[in-house]
Amino acid sequence: MSAPSKPRVDRIRVPNPFVEGRTCVYVLRTDPVTLIDTGIATDRAYTGLVDGLKEHGLAPADIRRVILTHKHIDHIGSAWKFQQDHGAEIFIHESETAAVEDVDPSGQRYAGIARQRLDEWQVPDEARPDTGDVAGPHWTIQSAQATPLVDGQRLPTAEGDIEVLHTPGHTMGSVCFRHNGVLFSGDHVLPDISPNVGGGDLKNRGLLAHYLKSLARIRDVTQNEQLVVMPGHGEPMESITDRCNELIQHHKDRLDEIVSILQKEDRLTTYEIATRLFGTMKEFHVILGGAEAYSHLELLMEQSRVREEGGKYSAD
Ligand SMILES: [Zn+2]
Ligand SMILES: [Zn+2]
Repeated sequence: MSAPSKPRVDRIRVPNPFVEGRTCVYVLRTDPVTLIDTGIATDRAYTGLVDGLKEHGLAPADIRRVILTHKHIDHIGSAWKFQQDHGAEIFIHESETAAVEDVDPSGQRYAGIARQRLDEWQVPDEARPDTGDVAGPHWTIQSAQATPLVDGQRLPTAEGDIEVLHTPGHTMGSVCFRHNGVLFSGDHVLPDISPNVGGGDLKNRGLLAHYLKSLARIRDVTQNEQLVVMPGHGEPMESITDRCNELIQHHKDRLDEIVSILQKEDRLTTYEIATRLFGTMKEFHVILGGAEAYSHLELLMEQSRVREEGGKYSAD
C-alpha cells in the first residue's frame, strides 16, 4: 500500500476587527472538501472568504464539512451559512456545540456574564467598560446543527484521517487538528501573541491550569514529528516545541510577578492586580486584563502561593 498523498491545504486570511488580526481559514482539498474555521460573522468577512475560495477555484457549495477549532465568533462566524445554503456538516468540540446551535448574535448573554465577573474582580464604577458595547455588534450569525467532537476522534478523508486533539485553556472546548504532517492549532498556539487565557471563556474556571497542561501535551505528542503548524492567526510555524515552551515560561513568569506584587502590597483585588500588570485599561481591555489576572490568581491559590479573603488577595 502506498503512503497517503499529502492533501493540498489552501489558506484564506479573512478580515477580523479583533486585535489578533485576520483569521486564517484553511481548506483541505480532499474528499470531503473540508474547511477549518470560517472567520467572523460579518458580511465583509464572508465576502472575503468566498472571494478567497474563488481564487482557489472553489465555490461555497464545494465545502461539505466545516470543522471548528473553538467557539469564538472570529472562527465560527460563517459556519452556519455553509450548512444553511449547501448542507455542509459542522463539527465542534462537544463542550461548545451550544455556540453553533444556540447563538447569541446580540451578545447579551456574554454581557451578563461579563458584568458578574467585573463585580467579582471589584472593578470600580469609573473603570467599568460599557458591557452594552460588547453586545453591540449584532453578528450576522444564525443557529445551525453541530456534530460534537471528542478527544482522539478521527474524521476520515480520502487522504487519511483528521485527528482531534482536545487542548482546553484558551476556551474549554479548544481543539487542534492533526492531518498528514500538519497541525492546525487554532488559537491554542499562535506565533506572535500570547493567547488570552481567561477572557475568552468567562463562564468557565480553572482555564490557566488547563492551558498549561494542554501546551505541554501538544508539545509532547508532536515531539518526534516533522509538523508544519498552521495557526488561527499569523504565519505557519516550522515547529511547535519552542513556542509551547515560550508560552509556558511566559505564564510562569507572570505567576511569579503576581506573587512579588502581593509581597509588596497586601490585600489587592483582582482589578488592582490587573492594573499593576497592565497599567490603565480601557473598554474591552478591562475584561481581558481582569480575566488574565484572575486566571493566574486561581492557579496561585491552587498552588497555595496566594490566599483570598473577601475578593482581596495576599501572598502566602
Ligand atoms: Zn481567534
Ligand atoms: Zn479564540
